[in-house]
Amino acid sequence: MSIELGKRLAKTAHVDHIDGDKLNDTLENLQVISLAENNKKAALERGVERTYAALRCPGCGRRFVRERRQTHLAKGGIYTACSRSCSGKFQHRIRKDPKDPKVISALDENIQTIGPYSSVEAAPGS
Ligand SMILES: [Zn+2]
Repeated sequence: MSIELGKRLAKTAHVDHIDGDKLNDTLENLQVISLAENNKKAALERGVERTYAALRCPGCGRRFVRERRQTHLAKGGIYTACSRSCSGKFQHRIRKDPKDPKVISALDENIQTIGPYSSVEAAPGS
């Protein structure tokens, strides 16, 4: 491929088969894309869809949406706050009185909805 293009390809460049057929090496079927683009295309072909969670911050009560893998559901822990600041403040409230009904209800209400972005956006009451 690099010989036919008449130039050296960057080390991060990948040669992609446009039609997905790895045996079809005609020039019309080949394109140079980045590793990130290649990974994105492969994920789409596998039907991988990002899952989002609609959350209510236990610190300030604000509603926000975050990719599920960026929440405590995937990373461990017991809640996800909207910011480091809120996370620190809420951690302090838990330490002070873990049985405070307001702390418990804030934890209960932390996760509102989980799903593809469209269904998260349309979550009732958000
Ligand atoms: Zn907050």
